[in-house]
Amino acid sequence: MISIKSPREIEIMKIAGNIVYRTHQYLKPYLKEGITTLELDHLAEEFIRSQGATPSFKGYNGFPGSICISINDEVVHGIPSKRKIHNGDLVSIDIGACYKGYHGDSAWSYIVGKATSKKAYLLEHTEKALYQGLSQIREGIHLGDVSHAIEEYAKAHHLGVVKELVGHGVGTHLHEDPEVPNYGKEKTGPILKAGMVIAVEPMLNFGSSDIYMLDDDWTILTDDGEPSAHFEHTVVVTKDGYQILTGE
Ligand code: MG
Ligand code: MG
Repeated sequence: MISIKSPREIEIMKIAGNIVYRTHQYLKPYLKEGITTLELDHLAEEFIRSQGATPSFKGYNGFPGSICISINDEVVHGIPSKRKIHNGDLVSIDIGACYKGYHGDSAWSYIVGKATSKKAYLLEHTEKALYQGLSQIREGIHLGDVSHAIEEYAKAHHLGVVKELVGHGVGTHLHEDPEVPNYGKEKTGPILKAGMVIAVEPMLNFGSSDIYMLDDDWTILTDDGEPSAHFEHTVVVTKDGYQILTGE
């Protein structure tokens, strides 16, 4: 069942989402060559807690970190560790925060230092794929219209669409109905209604869409070793469009 959030719930979710947004902004100046992913994790956790929220991912199904940091061929769910960031790394940071019982969820990808043209291309078009999907959203459309728009954009730019991992509803649970795949057919799936809150999150690969899981049971990597990027916003559906909750 897809829940419809009340105006009061949406006000709380705006705060949760804004904390996620500001955590991303807070981390940016630290995202430099030489810092470890665990140091970034600690900075994020401290910041989230200083805002009266808790990191949504910490302990989620046993996840050990507060945020997910996935580098280069890592798609998602990278576990913070003593691994250092290097010049030219493509770093995807996924952050969730829970405020007064409601979650916000947003991922962003960055290139540290000098980017190869391959990584720059992947970054540019994965972000655009997110906005292409979001641009479909308004009350009355089918969820498949969003999925389809992302897939078509990715295909037109020859990028691999990860299919095993999908976006989702957000609310008092980090992952709620509906699933929001990054592929699909127009005019299929549930019809969106004002007050639904969903996280749209394309994960696109420079090469093939095939992935595998590391034996840490978390980290997802591309099969062919090509880089992957991840952009995500939590948004609320409105009568004539959508509003980003994980923004300013
Ligand atoms: Mg996320
Ligand atoms: Mg998500």
